[in-house]
Amino acid sequence: MSGKIIDGKAISADIKQEVKLEVEALNKRGIEPCLAVILVGENTASKVYVNNKKKACQACGIQSVSYELPENTSERELLDLVEKLNQDKKINGILVQLPLPKQIDETKVILAISPKKDVDCFHPQNVGALHTGQKGFLPCTPAGILELIKRSGYDITSKQCVVIGRSNIVGKPAAMLLLQENGTVTICHSKTKDLAQVCKRADIIVVATGKINTLTKDMVKQGAIVIDVGMNRNEEGKLCGDVDFEAVKEVAEAITPVPGGVGPMTIAMLMKNCLTAAKEQAQG
Ligand code: NDP
Repeated sequence: MSGKIIDGKAISADIKQEVKLEVEALNKRGIEPCLAVILVGENTASKVYVNNKKKACQACGIQSVSYELPENTSERELLDLVEKLNQDKKINGILVQLPLPKQIDETKVILAISPKKDVDCFHPQNVGALHTGQKGFLPCTPAGILELIKRSGYDITSKQCVVIGRSNIVGKPAAMLLLQENGTVTICHSKTKDLAQVCKRADIIVVATGKINTLTKDMVKQGAIVIDVGMNRNEEGKLCGDVDFEAVKEVAEAITPVPGGVGPMTIAMLMKNCLTAAKEQAQG
């Protein structure tokens, strides 16, 4: 028997439609949510991501302004632009596409973005709010993972959850959100011993390693829910995740594909954060 394929495209389309309706309601009150997107340099993948974000804004009725700066932009120039956008009342969210060229310190740039406009949820103030359970933006990819699980009808309470990967943008915040949903959470990483044994106990497995075939069929118990965050290129150049999808789907209760799983959710949750930013800023 084959598990249910969780359709990230369809779920993300639902979320974007919900955002669109809320944006229309805000527009009627004269509020026009607006995202500023900054791209520095010539990274091809970054250009694709930025374009997708601009298209999503359009689909949701969110305004977007983009700044495409040359590769040799100095840290000072970028920080000045961020500061200008922090002060601009028409701008609700600021997104600086990472990675940045080597002459620019990413941490400094993240710290410079006003936490109120930090729709990526990278600023330590927002990360701290997340970890202490206070209200704030939710990090886009981890929030997308949660939506995929919940909107597919699965309850996280009391479930054994294993997150493979401990990065600041995926693994750690994903674990924190699962914990807030009352899951019993284990975080694994490259130094974890007996990864297969740890995974085999799990009801929910989130894989975010950036390594093809991190999770194979023998590591998954019958009926588990598997969320594959990975975005890799295989030897033929085809986009694939971190999970051996074809084999694991035979034992999983539900599984996300790559592409069409977590990927589209990240942008949908970004749109949701832009909406939240506009609503909060309208309240003053
Ligand atoms: P990082 O490289 O920052 O982190 C990878 C993590 O995986 C590290 O914690 C590392 O452990 C762990 N790891 C690596 N290999 C193994 C292994 N064999 N066994 C156990 N743990 C391992 O990656 P990111 O978190 O930024 O991204 C992960 C993947 O998700 C990438 O493929 C990325 O492209 C994708 N991604 C997808 C997004 C989407 O929208 N779909 C958004 C963001 C990322 P250690 O800490 O010990 O080194």
